[in-house]
Amino acid sequence: MDRREAILRELNLYPQWISRASAARIAPQPPAATATDPGAMVTAGQIQQASAAPAAGGGTELGKLGWAELKQRVRDCTVCKLRAGCTQTVFGVGDEKADWLFVGEGPGADEDIRGEPFVGQAGKLLDNMLMAIKLKRGSNVYIANIVKCRPPGNRNPEADEIAACMPYLQRQIELIQPKLIVALGKVASNALLGREATLASLRGKVHDYRGVKLIVTYHPAYLLRSPAEKAKAWQDLCMAVDIMNG
Ligand code: SF4
Repeated sequence: MDRREAILRELNLYPQWISRASAARIAPQPPAATATDPGAMVTAGQIQQASAAPAAGGGTELGKLGWAELKQRVRDCTVCKLRAGCTQTVFGVGDEKADWLFVGEGPGADEDIRGEPFVGQAGKLLDNMLMAIKLKRGSNVYIANIVKCRPPGNRNPEADEIAACMPYLQRQIELIQPKLIVALGKVASNALLGREATLASLRGKVHDYRGVKLIVTYHPAYLLRSPAEKAKAWQDLCMAVDIMNG
């Protein structure tokens, strides 16, 4: 078994193969959020609250910060209640001039200990997903989260926490200037797009985040619980590659 076959097996895709051309023609799925969707508990009201909530550092002030100052600001941040319950902030990792930006919702237990996003089982799956499209963590890829501190018990971040932390991610995006953002899961998708929508209704479309193309796919942690959905995630990744290839 070669490396690529091993990756496709890991993604439950072997021997099934979907060409990039056909993946690009994926039609949006009908709305079908389930109770196991990691973002299923985020409501329209919460998204509206998030838009209106106070932000870290006053928001616009962060727009002047470079990488070093921004990292320090996040390290020192106590703006929302998540900081009191986590081990450390998890800023993000990767190529600071990457074309690809992957965004999850928040650190889990492993990430909280290591201080790096996506380092547990979900991280291993994300690395395999990257490898399947010939990408590698740290090389033309940056990985970040919507919130930088671990929500207790791995619950979804709440609206006020998302609103407080989003300016940090916004500044990261301004500094990186990625060509494509891949939002992982419903929480990240809704936070970046600023509206409540099911993941199913957002998949298969090219969205816009402040002038940057954005697509939506499943969070790797959800894929670990629902491996049958890995084929759809692969379709999303093929679509992402097609977008990057113009
Ligand atoms: Fe600050 Fe974000 Fe951590 Fe809240 S989650 S304390 S806003 S770094």
